[in-house]
Amino acid sequence: MSDNYIYSAEKVIDELSRKPDFVSTAIKRWEKRDSKCGFGYKGICCRLCSNGPCRITPTQPVGICGATADSIVARNLLRAIAAGASCYVHHCRNTAMTLLSAAEGKSPYIIKDEEKLRRYAKKIGINISKGVKEIAYEFATKVLQDLSKPYTEKVELVAKLSLPARLRHGKNLT
Ligand code: SF4
Repeated sequence: MSDNYIYSAEKVIDELSRKPDFVSTAIKRWEKRDSKCGFGYKGICCRLCSNGPCRITPTQPVGICGATADSIVARNLLRAIAAGASCYVHHCRNTAMTLLSAAEGKSPYIIKDEEKLRRYAKKIGINISKGVKEIAYEFATKVLQDLSKPYTEKVELVAKLSLPARLRHGKNLT
């Protein structure tokens, strides 16, 4: 697959995003983008401190602090993963808290798609014969508990709720 190809693991989103009359999406913007900066693409540009930005070249093999290309690439990758994961965990937590407040009748939001809630609740082992608010409460609580685990404990819900293609892709990378 070419470097200039991006796709969504969710087929419907992928097809919708490519329609010419659909709004601007990450997929469309990715394909239109001019070439990437060579240093940034290789991960050998560091902007972690005000001594930089430092770029690694054959004549300058380390940054001002002495960091090598390997250190800079590893740090950039880990920081990008941490920032991206934090951003999505924040979305997930806010959504779970909104669901919780709807279940408790503390917000103006209502649960419109009960069937969808039951479908996902079943995937994480919730008894779906209960009332919709009880299911929503248990679902939101389980998500918040999973997100709050210490780093020494593995999260449980990712494997149960992820799209199979995305899960496979993640496993192939580890
Ligand atoms: S390589 Fe070192 S000195 Fe340069 S910006 Fe990064 S941390 Fe700062």
